[in-house]
Amino acid sequence: MEKHIARCQCGNVNVECVGESKYVGMCSCDDCQRRTGSAFSLTSWFDKSNVKITGKVHVYSLTEHNGIETNYSFCPNCSSTVFFEIPRNPSGLGVSVGCFTDQNFAQPTVSFYEAKRLPWIVVPKGINRVIAEGGSEKVSD
Ligand SMILES: [Zn+2]
Ligand SMILES: [Zn+2]
Repeated sequence: MEKHIARCQCGNVNVECVGESKYVGMCSCDDCQRRTGSAFSLTSWFDKSNVKITGKVHVYSLTEHNGIETNYSFCPNCSSTVFFEIPRNPSGLGVSVGCFTDQNFAQPTVSFYEAKRLPWIVVPKGINRVIAEGGSEKVSD
């Protein structure tokens, strides 16, 4: 079975993921922009049963703008947010795609918060685009 290993910048936190991610999403919401310090977040979703986490993390809990409680786990040494959990989806784990440093990692299949996406960022053709909360729009360009 294929393995993907995500790690923080200093190497203290490692997340070993077995098999393919269930899906990959990019998100341009304000919370993700601030958390990552970048234009959007890029997250892969795995079942917790396929993931092994090693290393000590600190957890930052946030009720996001959309009311969803999220627990971000970051390395207390280098501050990389390697993974996060959403208590209302207890079987899943979101793993930051950048922490895999894998050019061949699966591309996103959905772009969340298109309304906040920086206008010069081009999303892959044909992926699902969610404009904001509660709406979904399939764009075919
Ligand atoms: Zn670290
Ligand atoms: Zn977001």
